[in-house]
Amino acid sequence: MTSRRHLLSALVFSTVSFVSTAHAQTSQAKYSEADVKLAKQAMAAAQNSDLAWDIVASLTTEVGPRPAGSANDAKAVAWGKAKLESLGFDRVWTEAVKVDAWIRVSGQAEIVAPYPQKLAVAALGNSISTPAKGITAEIAYYENYEQLKNDTSDRAKGRIVFIDGVFPRSRDGKGYGQGVMARFRGAVEAGKHGAVAILIRSVGSDRDRLAHTGAMRYDEKIAKPIPAAAVSTSDAAMIARQVKSGKPVKVALNLQNQFKKGMTSANVLAEIRGSEKPEQVVVIGGHLDSWDLGTGAIDDGAGVAITVAALKAVKDLGVRPKRTIRVVMFANEENGLDGGNGYAEVHGKEKHQLAGESDLGSGAVYRFSAGADEAAQPWLRAIGEVIAPLGIEYVAETEHGGSDIGPLVNKYRHPLAALSQDATEYFDYHHTANDTLDKIDPKTLKQNVSAWAAVVWLAAQADADFGPAPKKQN
Ligand code: ZN
Ligand code: ZN
Repeated sequence: MTSRRHLLSALVFSTVSFVSTAHAQTSQAKYSEADVKLAKQAMAAAQNSDLAWDIVASLTTEVGPRPAGSANDAKAVAWGKAKLESLGFDRVWTEAVKVDAWIRVSGQAEIVAPYPQKLAVAALGNSISTPAKGITAEIAYYENYEQLKNDTSDRAKGRIVFIDGVFPRSRDGKGYGQGVMARFRGAVEAGKHGAVAILIRSVGSDRDRLAHTGAMRYDEKIAKPIPAAAVSTSDAAMIARQVKSGKPVKVALNLQNQFKKGMTSANVLAEIRGSEKPEQVVVIGGHLDSWDLGTGAIDDGAGVAITVAALKAVKDLGVRPKRTIRVVMFANEENGLDGGNGYAEVHGKEKHQLAGESDLGSGAVYRFSAGADEAAQPWLRAIGEVIAPLGIEYVAETEHGGSDIGPLVNKYRHPLAALSQDATEYFDYHHTANDTLDKIDPKTLKQNVSAWAAVVWLAAQADADFGPAPKKQN
């Protein structure tokens, strides 16, 4: 009895001392000097490489616009596979993803009364067409989405709802989350109020006469679908001025679009196999599809280029990482999130050490944050110290890592890392014909590659498991 108790207490004691030793180790997060040196080497190599620029230049020049399910989307998938193969990763492959294609055919709008003016307009992604002869109706003006939602009158009935609302420019792009409600959900609210169509002020911070497209959705349980389009910010101001004149403002709108359901696209993947824990994965990526108006340079050719170049910088170290590092070019982020959902379906049950995404253009990274297990914190902090010279501050918590890794994080609670980018100018060009290669700054593009290279390399080398992620993120 006594000896048993003694044994038991010895066990308890040894367990306790083991725990406290482990705690002391993780709280200091001892990356080996060699691993830190290699991280710095990958960072320096990325700063001196034009690879990311070459990738986004190649994609935007040789493929161009690539809306999901289009012929160019298929071309982009073939381009992606060939590009990854040319870089010599251990494995390159595609995974088919079903997508519904939406095709813009034409779109015109003009104010016909009281002061006739042409409007720069773009149908929102997924919008139905107007009748062939178009729709002419009076505008029902709303300052913002909330005002339409709260409207108990019948003034929208039989009219074209117009939702105004200035997008505030900011480094973190936080205005987008608010503005995007009018775009995504406005047609449902307007339809519910009996409107015949909806126009919104473009969700953008520019003063260009170009409309910003983007995804919208119907909910036929709530309201009958109505055509939906965005007007340029300049034209939104024009509509607002004419409304202020007190005279009825009439707009003629003609949108023609097509749908092709059940098309096939694909996620394009590549990886470097881990040497010690190959079944554990660090994954990063960007989305391969784009809207049709520009060439998808900042959204999201940049993210594809940054993450692929980061993987190449790690590969060029010539030292195999402990865990597998994978890059994904996601299919149809813009109009359905099919690639992100597809990846989570196929790979959600694999152990992910970390997931990250680059989808905010090529602006400089200013913050590194993560949603990960407590045990990962010292290791993440150590990564933060390595990338601090790039002008990046480490913050323990993140609220959002990106839409494509959302399903992986939300459904499977895999940990995520976010590198927050300066989005001050991003929403000037986002989803417009102006999203072209010249909007990318090669210098900040390299800084992004440099940061991701260090993050993925060090995440793959850490002694601690970074997951599971705490609840309630993304
Ligand atoms: Zn995007
Ligand atoms: Zn986008």
